[in-house]
Amino acid sequence: MPMPKHAVVIAGGGPSGLMLAGELALAGIDVAIVERRANQDVTGSRAGGLHSRTLEVFDQRGIVDRFLAEGQKSQATGFAGVRFDISGFPTRHPYSLGLWQNHIERILAGWVAELKVPIYRGIEVTGFAQDESGVDVELSDGRSLRAQYLVGCDGGRSLVRKAAGIEFPGSDPTTSNLIAVAELAETPPEWGIRRDAHGIHSLGRVDYEVHDGQIVYADKGPVGVLVTERGVGQTAEPTLSDLSEALVAVYGTDYGIHSPTSITRFTDAARQAASYRAGRVLIAGDAAHVHPPDGGQGLQTGVQDAVNLGWKLAQVVKGISPESLLDTYHTERHPVAARVLRHTMASVALRREDERTKALRDTMAELLGMDEPRRHFAAMMSGLDIHYDLGEGHPLLGRRMPDLSTANGPLRVFDLLHGARPVLLNFGTPCAFDISPWADRVQLVDAKYDGPWELPALGAVPAAAAVLIRPDGYVAWVGDQTQPALTDALTAWFGPPTASG
Ligand SMILES: Cc1cc2nc3c(=O)[nH]c(=O)nc-3n(C[C@H](O)[C@H](O)[C@H](O)COP(=O)(O)OP(=O)(O)OC[C@H]3O[C@@H](n4cnc5c(N)ncnc54)[C@H](O)[C@@H]3O)c2cc1C
Repeated sequence: MPMPKHAVVIAGGGPSGLMLAGELALAGIDVAIVERRANQDVTGSRAGGLHSRTLEVFDQRGIVDRFLAEGQKSQATGFAGVRFDISGFPTRHPYSLGLWQNHIERILAGWVAELKVPIYRGIEVTGFAQDESGVDVELSDGRSLRAQYLVGCDGGRSLVRKAAGIEFPGSDPTTSNLIAVAELAETPPEWGIRRDAHGIHSLGRVDYEVHDGQIVYADKGPVGVLVTERGVGQTAEPTLSDLSEALVAVYGTDYGIHSPTSITRFTDAARQAASYRAGRVLIAGDAAHVHPPDGGQGLQTGVQDAVNLGWKLAQVVKGISPESLLDTYHTERHPVAARVLRHTMASVALRREDERTKALRDTMAELLGMDEPRRHFAAMMSGLDIHYDLGEGHPLLGRRMPDLSTANGPLRVFDLLHGARPVLLNFGTPCAFDISPWADRVQLVDAKYDGPWELPALGAVPAAAAVLIRPDGYVAWVGDQTQPALTDALTAWFGPPTASG
């Protein structure tokens, strides 16, 4: 029987793999996912929500309402125990959305199903061999798939990363936590977070609502437990008695914990792949970076890796762009995750309850009480300040394009990105641009906008006459029709001009 073929095979259908599949499918690429799990169920709690930039990314694809309809809006970004209120930030989503990862994945999987991406479920990628024209992907059921590219979105223990020989340097764990969902026979005197010399712990019902910025837990139902263990380095699967023991050590009681639906262990190990690409094999999400969950950055970073990679890989597969475009994926995304690793490691150091750490936390809180540092950190933790180094120029260059409402009809910038196609947005003299040699790839839209130009981290920036926006929503060029650099930018990002126009 001939080997089934796809242009791209994605190992792993978690948040990163699903997002990447959606991006490729929107670009018309034949993509398939191989997923170990038989269904989309997520064991345990994992990510608890979405920050602003991830919400914007979903908005750019026209699917944000699906998440908003199910989640709870709150001001949940923070650092060193300081909460930030980002309600004044210039974004349509100046908040975080509380929504458990199982719901996030279900919604993403629904979108991917609408885009008709095949998912080989209940099957693992067990190995691969790459040659000049593609990759043979070996599956646990004995079959193989042939693809032009393989992307490992297969989580922190990524087989794809290891088999590709990609190094994963970083730091070993210093703390270990158990996270579980279970029933409690007794109701604790209070829900929420507790800190002690060993670290951070918390108890709260899985179901909750946010009223006036405060979490109001459901009266009954399963309880999410997070507890820091006394030791590091346990390798056996955690049990109910481990959980009970850890609770007794912190709370003096285990509150009659029973009937767990999940118990998992995570540590503060922080590691990042040395390279995001090895030939025809790429990695994204937790496969490329792992770090402690402080600040809730892992899923956001993985989804945004996928949005950075998707359109580039699509163009390379279609032969529009050279393979070197894929190198910009590493160049742009590696520093983003490196920064996430750095601030999550700092957060872990600040978790401790000894006198000196408390003093350091208070010092941080004092600094974060000042306007400029607060704005800087809030923009960082919400993902709104991401800046790809595309050279000198207008402050918008390499930053996210704001979702401006333009005056010709009810047109929002993000609406133009629903199909994941680039757009040249001209705010100057109508019909001033002729980009017909790229007309098959790049939309040209004349628009009017008289409002303020503001970026979350920077504040007001000069108005732009025209902006070239990539499918991931980042600005590739800013200028006007007198500036010849537009041709270079169009060619660099979206391939050479076509002769016929
Ligand atoms: C306790 C905890 C709390 C967290 N809280 C947050 C938070 O609040 N905010 C946040 O943004 N992030 C949070 N995270 C991180 C977040 O859960 C991860 O970053 C996110 O799941 C990464 O998505 P991914 O798709 O890259 O990898 P994964 O979610 O790990 O998905 C990998 C997928 O690949 C599949 N797979 C693995 N190997 C193979 C194989 N060989 N073949 C086929 N399939 C395979 C797996 O079944 C899985 O579906 C938290 C994590 C933990 C542990």
